[in-house]
Order: sequence, then C-alpha cells, then structure tokens
Amino acid sequence: MRLALDEAGQAVRGGDVPVGAVVLSPDGTTVLASGHNEREATGDPTAHAEVLALRRAAAALGEWRLTGCTLVVTLEPCTMCAGALVQSRVDRVVYGARDEKAGAAGSLWDVVRDRRLNHRPEVVEGVLAVESAGLLTEFFRDR
Ligand SMILES: [Zn+2]
Repeated sequence: MRLALDEAGQAVRGGDVPVGAVVLSPDGTTVLASGHNEREATGDPTAHAEVLALRRAAAALGEWRLTGCTLVVTLEPCTMCAGALVQSRVDRVVYGARDEKAGAAGSLWDVVRDRRLNHRPEVVEGVLAVESAGLLTEFFRDR
C-alpha cells in the first residue's frame, strides 16, 4: 500500500486525482506493475490507476489472466475498474479509502463480490485508509 500511495502522489503532477495501484505476484513478493490516474495527463477516460496497473501486469506476465495476483489500490475501485478486476481474474483486491459516491467494491455497489459472476476476488478494505483519503482531501482542497 505504501507503493500505491507513492504512485498516487505521482498522479498529481499530471493534474490527476491522486489514486495509485500496484499488482503483486501470486507469491506476494514481487511488484509486477504499478499505475496512477492518468486521465488528465493522457486524455484517456479509461486511464484509471487500476486499469493501467492491470494492463502492465498482464504485459509483464505475457497473458491476460492474473490468477493468484493481488491488486492494491488507494481508493475503492469504480464500476469500470471493478469490472476489469473481475475480468483479469485477480485473486485479491486490497484498497485504502472507501468511495461512498462511486465505489463498486462494497460502498455503492459490490461488483467484485456479485454472486452472479463466476469469478469473485477476495476484498480487503481500509488498509492505510486515512493516508489514502488524506491525499484526496488535500488535492481537492487545493483546487
Ligand atoms: Zn476506476
């Protein structure tokens, strides 16, 4: 989560909301990929931290299935990212702050644990939540 927070900090430089993500290998010892929000920086509406980290992890492994992997992200994933997480077959999603307005991993929706889907990653929430939310509060206060 510390690495994800470092990534989140980098988003601010491009004018993006500070959200960062990392993908860990199945044994949890290697960071396969990382990403931060790049919507403003790239003009890409899908350039959320999680999507970028998943794409890079898949490229690093040479396949789209990220079975056994863990995605760590500073903010609760949105519906798009929750969908991408299910599609990538990651085993675990760890997030920091809840997103009561748009979260899709327990707050507003729970796409990742929807029983109608055949793949449901384990969800761990609230890891360094105060630090994760603090970055966002600071970012929006300075605007
Ligand atoms: Zn998202």
